[in-house]
Amino acid sequence: MPEKSFKITSDFPYFKGGGEMGQLIRTYDWSNNSLGNPESWSQSLLIAIKILLNSRFPMFIWWGSDLIQFYNDAYRCSLGTDGKHPKALRQRGVECWPEIWPVVKPLIDQVINEGESTWSEDLLLPIYRNGKLEDVYWTFSYSKIEDETGITCGGVLVICNETTEKIQARQQLIASYKKQNALNKELRDSVQQIKDSDSRFRDIVQQAPVAIGTLKGRTHIFESANDKMLALWGHSREVLNKPLLVGLPEIKGQPFIKLLDEVYDSGSAFYGNEVLTVLNVNGTLKDFYFNFVYHPIKENGDQVTGVMMIAIDVTEMVLAKHKVEESEARMRTFLNAIPQIAWTNSISGEAEFYNKSWYDYTGLDFDQSRAWGWKIIVHPDDLNKMLQSYHAILQSNQVGEFELRLKNIDGEYRWHLTRLKPINSSQENVQSWIGTATDIQDLKMAQQRKDDFISIASHELKTPVTSLKASLQLLDRMKGNLSEKMALRLIDHANKSMDKVSTLIDDLLNMGRINNIEAPLNKTRFNISELLNSCCHHVRVEGKYELIFKGDLELEVEADEHRIDQVLVNFVNNAIKYASNSIKIFITVEKLDKSVKVSVQDNGPGIPAEKLPHLFNRYYQVNESAVNTAGTGLGLGLYICADIIKRHGGQIGVDSEIGIGSTFWFTLPL
Ligand code: ADP
Repeated sequence: MPEKSFKITSDFPYFKGGGEMGQLIRTYDWSNNSLGNPESWSQSLLIAIKILLNSRFPMFIWWGSDLIQFYNDAYRCSLGTDGKHPKALRQRGVECWPEIWPVVKPLIDQVINEGESTWSEDLLLPIYRNGKLEDVYWTFSYSKIEDETGITCGGVLVICNETTEKIQARQQLIASYKKQNALNKELRDSVQQIKDSDSRFRDIVQQAPVAIGTLKGRTHIFESANDKMLALWGHSREVLNKPLLVGLPEIKGQPFIKLLDEVYDSGSAFYGNEVLTVLNVNGTLKDFYFNFVYHPIKENGDQVTGVMMIAIDVTEMVLAKHKVEESEARMRTFLNAIPQIAWTNSISGEAEFYNKSWYDYTGLDFDQSRAWGWKIIVHPDDLNKMLQSYHAILQSNQVGEFELRLKNIDGEYRWHLTRLKPINSSQENVQSWIGTATDIQDLKMAQQRKDDFISIASHELKTPVTSLKASLQLLDRMKGNLSEKMALRLIDHANKSMDKVSTLIDDLLNMGRINNIEAPLNKTRFNISELLNSCCHHVRVEGKYELIFKGDLELEVEADEHRIDQVLVNFVNNAIKYASNSIKIFITVEKLDKSVKVSVQDNGPGIPAEKLPHLFNRYYQVNESAVNTAGTGLGLGLYICADIIKRHGGQIGVDSEIGIGSTFWFTLPL
């Protein structure tokens, strides 16, 4: 507080009281102010200040030409802190209010010049206070204060009220009204939307292609049902608002009430698939099949209050499926009855069913055979070709076939002819495939033998024929000057070649018989001695070898005489060929327990023991280097013999010792 050069005496009547502002006015050194000391102030001003200081209403005075300012405690609040107060007291108006002066000054001028009071309500006058420019609203009145002459205007009295709080509250209110209005609108829109979607939802439920209904309470009272559900038991029945069992008494004894109880009690949904349901439709009990769900309706969290039922009538589909299943069962029964292997597979090639013959042949079970598991029994050399053919047939949608070797339960591969045929649900639509595999092993073997034979025979024939041709050509060329010795040699040579050709032709004839191997045996009852007497006529005629019969020659057998003769001739011919020094050939007939045994014995060189097991194999020859020698054959004779005896149910074999001789024998059942 500066040192006061002017002291207002305590009894100065105008500046008494007035709180903080009264104190400031009193203590301020007015001598430095353009108004000078208070003693010199106009009476009007002093009176106005007195009123101002004693008023609880915010008041403000601009006085004199400098518009020096006074205000009271009530007004002081509006100046805030860190701003204009206390400097505003005794300050010039223009210096104090630069921010609002352009608005305020014209009003002051209006009052001073025209003497008219002003009234402004809730006017926004932003002022600098509290360290910043703030929006402040005022309601105020400016009125003139005449000087004591009553003619001139000495100053302006401002009676004002700051309405910022009121305005802000009102603005907030408006904003919140606006917000509320917006919210209300949103709410209304939402309610409308819910109403719309609810009604849409109801429409959807009502028109849904599935039956939908709700049951209320533990007694399952039928609360609502859409058209589809009502149609299930005929619209004429009144089922709504009744317990389910009352509305649909025919479901008693069917599983539904129990299921509903469980859903209600557990709160967990139940899903039924193709469930048979008997319903009373217009007085007639009818079978239906449904896929359905019973779903608990929960309120207040977990409280189950009812059950929603959604059901799809799948009766037509199930009946059609049953028909297909029946026809499939019939087809499977049929496939199980046929001797061939048979199966069905999907359009992608995965096997779905195998018949009994498959399991008997392969020894696999279904799990091992399913999908493409069956590939393990296909011969590895046939697998790739088989897969190519298989896929090509599946893609063609046409019947197709291929050959492959399939391994049987004993591990033996046998050739099969596989046929695939599409099963069509319509003209183009292949639904599945049926496959069969027929055992063609014997056929294949016969074919193989024939092919092998032709290639071997043509090769074997070529050598003696070439040699025969050479001898004849030589004879022809030398016919004029041919010595007797030379002629004899060439003729002998030609004869040997001719013998070889003739042996090979015999084999060819035998081969013809092989190809007829599957021809049925022509069995008759005959006496063994008859057989022996007519057999080997050619040997007897030639007279070089002696056939000696021994044993029980009167025994009778039932066999194909022609074929047994073929075996016997083969044994004798071999004895002549391979034991040519043995002039005596013994043919013995013995009666065994249930069979007759016929043996052909020679005293030839014998056969090494290690070769014996192979003698009856196809094309087997003990001395392979002898192939081209005149008199040897193709290694087929014994093979054919073995086959004939096997087909008669007999046995064939050989006993041989090196240097002693060989005994070839066979038995026939009696
Ligand atoms: P091939 O048609 O070649 O005569 P076979 O099947 O009749 O063939 O005979 C097979 C082989 O058995 C002959 O190559 C021969 O070596 C041998 N063999 C057959 N019979 C006798 C026998 N009595 N003594 C010695 N070896 C024999």
